[in-house]
Amino acid sequence: MNVVVITGTPGVGKSTVLQRALEEIEEEYTILNFGDAMLKVALERGVVKNRDEMRMLDPGVQKDIQRMAARKIAGVAKTQNVVVDTHAQIKTHNGYLPGMPVWVLEQLMPRIIVVVEADAAEIAGRRSSDTTRTRDVDTIAEIEEHQFMNKAAAVAYAVFTGATVAVIQNHDNRLDEAARDLAVVLR
Ligand code: AMP
Ligand code: MG
Repeated sequence: MNVVVITGTPGVGKSTVLQRALEEIEEEYTILNFGDAMLKVALERGVVKNRDEMRMLDPGVQKDIQRMAARKIAGVAKTQNVVVDTHAQIKTHNGYLPGMPVWVLEQLMPRIIVVVEADAAEIAGRRSSDTTRTRDVDTIAEIEEHQFMNKAAAVAYAVFTGATVAVIQNHDNRLDEAARDLAVVLR
């Protein structure tokens, strides 16, 4: 099982950096989006209409759906190299919900945890120009706090699994650089 987890505050551009990085390397990785796996379960249960409603659900329900998604993803990861596109901490009405509590880590056992970051002002700008999603309208200080919490969580996950933690900067107009840095990590 070769599992890499990629995380980052919403709007940081992690999916874009990942796609670009995978084009640069020989190694074959399947991208599995944790939110997609959760959304499938949540839609089947009829508890949400779209992916941005999931973080508004009762935390107990989110964790239940999270557990089911982790099992599905671990099943796929048995036979192929995967990059799991997910979150270190989900901002909910009840506080930060860990994206990888111990029962998720036991399923995934990642080899590498990637944290994609940018300046908070850059993230705020990207969120406001994204019309496809219902992004949180956070202040600069709130985005900074979220990024701090993500890194703190990544280190905790690393202590449990022995995974390495790679922090990748994805600054405005420097996507190529971010993709190159991630490609080095994934090789
Ligand atoms: P995304 O498209 O990556 O923003 O993911 C959509 C939604 O899926 C997020 O806003 C969360 O509600 C949920 N989600 C993704 N990964 C996790 C996770 N590891 N644990 C709990 N919820 C998650
Ligand atoms: Mg994404």
